[in-house]
Amino acid sequence: MLEAAGLKKTFSRPGKIVAALDGVTLKLAGGEFVVVRGPSGSGKTTLLLTLGGLLAPDSGRIDIAGRNPYELSNEARAAFRAGTVGFVFQQFHLVPYLSVRDNVLCPALAAPADGLDKRADELIERFNLAPRRTHLPAELSTGEKQRVALARALLNSPKLLLADEPTGNLDEANERVVLETFKSFTAAGGAVLMVTHSRHWEDHADRALYLEAGRLR
Ligand code: ADP
Ligand code: MG
Repeated sequence: MLEAAGLKKTFSRPGKIVAALDGVTLKLAGGEFVVVRGPSGSGKTTLLLTLGGLLAPDSGRIDIAGRNPYELSNEARAAFRAGTVGFVFQQFHLVPYLSVRDNVLCPALAAPADGLDKRADELIERFNLAPRRTHLPAELSTGEKQRVALARALLNSPKLLLADEPTGNLDEANERVVLETFKSFTAAGGAVLMVTHSRHWEDHADRALYLEAGRLR
């Protein structure tokens, strides 16, 4: 489902160069749930953005479901991502002037399909957001925003789900919903790559990796 080799990404600031990814090689098969743990600043978000087709690496190779997203035009890459990759942003990136329901439906703009209204309602139910359906993001708790971001990432039934610390603000009951969701997603053949600084998720994953200073082990 996902193959990456030798990924490097450097950020330069005046007087300083940060090697956020320093040669990361990683494979993820359909049906796998993999957790990457690492301290703050170790490159977790950079890794997910790069794997998700949102941030081109300086060097290295990426193959998602048979395609290299960075060889596509911007338009083709957006369409490919909309159909293949679900992304849960660490900072959520909800659209501030849209309701919870319309935020969840956003991916339908990029990849329209039958049945997405019904699927949005199912996801809203599953993530215990029904009472907040018409609310704006500013009216939500952080945990509620996180669940909207998860529901939105799943709307288009992606093959690959990339989740950036997706449970950092959730209570235990909602964390269980996320775990069950990941399990049924992988049981149906999808692949989940989740990054977190917490040890706690490693017990639930098929495989756990550790990222430190841009290197994976
Ligand atoms: P994590 O998600 O593990 O906390 P990040 O991937 O966000 O780590 O960041 C890895 C390193 O790269 C950090 O040292 C961070 O300061 C730096 N970094 C990330 N994004 C940028 C950017 N856009 N410009 C400059 N430095 C960045
Ligand atoms: Mg991060």
